[in-house]
Amino acid sequence: MLLTTMMTTFGVHAAVADTATVTKAGFGKLPDGTAIDIYTLKNADLELRITNYGARIVSLETQDRAGKMGDVVLGYNSVEGYVAEGAAKTYFGAIVGRYGNRIRGGKFTIDGKAYQIPLNNNGNALHGGPHGFDDRVWTGKELPDGVEMSLVSKDGDMGFPGTLTVHVRYTLVGSALHIDYQATTDKDTVVNLTNHSYFNLSGDGSGTILGEVLQIDADGYTPVDAGLIPVGGVQPVAGTPFDFNKPTAIGARINDANEQLKLAGGYDHNWALNGKNGVMKLAARVYDPQSGRVLTVRTTQPGVQFYSGNFLDGSYKGKTGATYAKYAGFCLETQHYPDSPNQPAFPSTELKPGQTMRSQTVFAFSVR
Ligand code: BGC
Repeated sequence: MLLTTMMTTFGVHAAVADTATVTKAGFGKLPDGTAIDIYTLKNADLELRITNYGARIVSLETQDRAGKMGDVVLGYNSVEGYVAEGAAKTYFGAIVGRYGNRIRGGKFTIDGKAYQIPLNNNGNALHGGPHGFDDRVWTGKELPDGVEMSLVSKDGDMGFPGTLTVHVRYTLVGSALHIDYQATTDKDTVVNLTNHSYFNLSGDGSGTILGEVLQIDADGYTPVDAGLIPVGGVQPVAGTPFDFNKPTAIGARINDANEQLKLAGGYDHNWALNGKNGVMKLAARVYDPQSGRVLTVRTTQPGVQFYSGNFLDGSYKGKTGATYAKYAGFCLETQHYPDSPNQPAFPSTELKPGQTMRSQTVFAFSVR
């Protein structure tokens, strides 16, 4: 840990103990030979590793209630592991974009002009199409307490209009990870960026997340059709297995005879958060009775996709050597609602030249 010494107005030296150290190392090579980096951010409470391949979180160590550090996200030991997934992508830890989540038929219209994103998910576009921001090499820059990942997505990239310049900052602030997103464009476009980490608060590779207790601060969610595209706007969660206002184990109702759960094979839906779009608010809190870890998620985004890892099928071996089976991790993807470019009633995802898209999400860790 780095100790920064500050001179106070009284000439006394005071130590600021939670400054993070940032180091950089190699993380393997892409099939075309491109060398990939990994950054390690470490302070008294957290150790975070970020690779510039997809601007991904690779590992995140936090204390359990006994003070023991453990890695709470799923991922691989080198870039080769991520590449080996091929088309059946998990998006472990990645920044997904240009449009995270789904766009119906990959089609939308801006200023009367129609655009088509290549389809990669049951006739729809998911996470920006087959070569989204998750499989790009970002430019990393070390910051005093973190790292900034930058990407320029060309006009027409995956069918999206406008050159989009994106900066994502990961910063450690005590026992919290702050993620700050910023994007600008040179033509009218749409943008929806999120981080796609899969958490398991008992530890990476330690089994399912069904016993972890979730709270989501939302009275509404957006039910979906068979392609997992919202239909019928925002509906109340009250009286359904989607009501997480009262903390409830993820697995408590996951096998209920509920059409929405059947369509997705578990939870894979967007909750419309109670607080205001653009204002920092509680999104969700997860408590793991086993380790005592608590994850509190706050965001300026209007929604959160809670995905219970339904499509993990045991075919990939992660960092610990364990394979990731169904429900091995959960995602809390703070974001705009799915298919917003086609649903005028949803908060807009349009970005115009001269505007800056800014959002922030905080993943704060504590123990109980
Ligand atoms: C989607 C899931 C998908 C997963 C990985 C999530 O954001 O909602 O349906 O399987 O990403 O691709």
